[in-house]
Amino acid sequence: MQTPREILKEVFGYDDFRAGQLDIIEKVLAHKHTLAIMPTGGGKSITYQLPALMFEGLTLVISPLISLMKDQVDGLNTMGIDATFLNSTLTGQEQAQRMSDIRAGLYKMLYVSPERLEIPSFFGFIQQLPIDLVAIDEAHVMSQWGHDFRPSYLNILPLLHEIPGSPAVLGLTATATERVRESLQQLLDVSDEDTVLTGFARDNLALKIMHYVDKRRYVQDYLRENSEQSGIIYAATRKQVDELYEFLHKKGVKVGRYHAGLPEHERQAMQEAFLYDDVQVIVATNAFGMGINKPNVRFVIHYSVPGNIEAYYQEIGRAGRDGLPAEAVLLYAPQDMHLQEFFVQKSGGSEEYKQNEYNKIREMNAFANTQTCLPRYLLGYFGEIVDQDCKMCSNCLDSREMVDVTTDTQKVLANVMRMNQSFGKTMVAKILKGSHDATVKKYDYLTQLPTYGLMKAHTLKDLTAFIDFLTADGYLKTAGGEFPVLKVTEIGARVLKGQLVVEKRLNRSVVAQQKVVT
Ligand code: ADP
Repeated sequence: MQTPREILKEVFGYDDFRAGQLDIIEKVLAHKHTLAIMPTGGGKSITYQLPALMFEGLTLVISPLISLMKDQVDGLNTMGIDATFLNSTLTGQEQAQRMSDIRAGLYKMLYVSPERLEIPSFFGFIQQLPIDLVAIDEAHVMSQWGHDFRPSYLNILPLLHEIPGSPAVLGLTATATERVRESLQQLLDVSDEDTVLTGFARDNLALKIMHYVDKRRYVQDYLRENSEQSGIIYAATRKQVDELYEFLHKKGVKVGRYHAGLPEHERQAMQEAFLYDDVQVIVATNAFGMGINKPNVRFVIHYSVPGNIEAYYQEIGRAGRDGLPAEAVLLYAPQDMHLQEFFVQKSGGSEEYKQNEYNKIREMNAFANTQTCLPRYLLGYFGEIVDQDCKMCSNCLDSREMVDVTTDTQKVLANVMRMNQSFGKTMVAKILKGSHDATVKKYDYLTQLPTYGLMKAHTLKDLTAFIDFLTADGYLKTAGGEFPVLKVTEIGARVLKGQLVVEKRLNRSVVAQQKVVT
């Protein structure tokens, strides 16, 4: 029998396994329950495709991405792998034919959607097959802590136990937060040692965050400067997609668009135009891209800030899959966060779900405002400690002078303490500014505080930005759900005691600028 490495070379044409791949494959071949957590583009597919070729029986791949099944299966067929799929895009006759071929053992791999498994007659069919491996792609959608949570995905869990012959089970995801990991381990009955988590660093991806730019202008200039490059622009809403698409189209950019409001045939056509480089760039909502494997995407621009770091990470991961240099640009505006909050409000989820989503928005906001090396911060979020700066993100390349903002920080933190750590950033900023609008009047006693008007020379916008910076870099933290309040952290307390100095880049906010002038 051939070894996994020989098959890797012969069928897939690669000389070496990437980090984690062989480890996962060996566990799967030993019929274990395994969880594979690898970044987007990390090479998850081979970890079930290769064992599928080694097993006697069938590998069942459960994937929520119906629209991509055909492409995936076509790709496998061209490599000489006997794979097929069953889903609602096929006619009754086609399905019957395939089922009979599957029964006759003509296939090594079968792709199905989770919804299909729930159909009792179909599941009865599955139970009669010799299944060696059940691979669950995009497994994070099973976890309520993951983004894109799909409760219906949970219905397949009890079914897994009813497949005869106790097949190996492999969950695959690019979402690495501890909560998601733990919940998937529990759901899929995977031990710590059978959880394989590979590094999340993407060394070829330069991260950039632009604050308060004229977004349209920026995109237009960017596309002009990179007119030979293929890229994705993510916008937050269908309307935003349509507007930006029209705008770029008028400017003569070869642009496509993609969102769930477009008819299926148009979405399909746009996706293909993008894959085959008939358009340079595609403007899309987050409905675009899951499972898309276009190797030469050179840039991903976020026109609006995503609702959580996991989604952001997954979306930027679509750039530079070929390993060549690529760029991810986040265009930050604070009001983007309100839009995300609005989505959560309207989501109809449980209170617990909403609180969790609000927290994620805040984490995203903190990331967008940090002055730490961006990949370091990001990997730290996923629990990976990196001790070196990337030297290529916008923070590492920021050559603006550092200024001491300890006094300003102390003013803000002292004010938060005076306000009993019971107010959000807008109120904290208003008190520092000395505003007396209706909301402030409601809490009249706040105007008696010694910190009232203490930073009145600054604009409210700059004060809020400064508070965001202090939160991002850990001097303040937020607590509570929809209306979060600011609290001083332990590090913040040390600044208040004069034990720590706070430095900040010049210019990003007027707070720092004026400090130097005075
Ligand atoms: P994921 O599902 O983790 O996002 P894929 O499985 O689609 O990633 O793999 C991403 C790309 O990496 C694909 O083009 C794939 O062919 C390639 N790839 C996977 N494994 C290897 C390997 N061992 N050596 C070289 N390229 C690989």
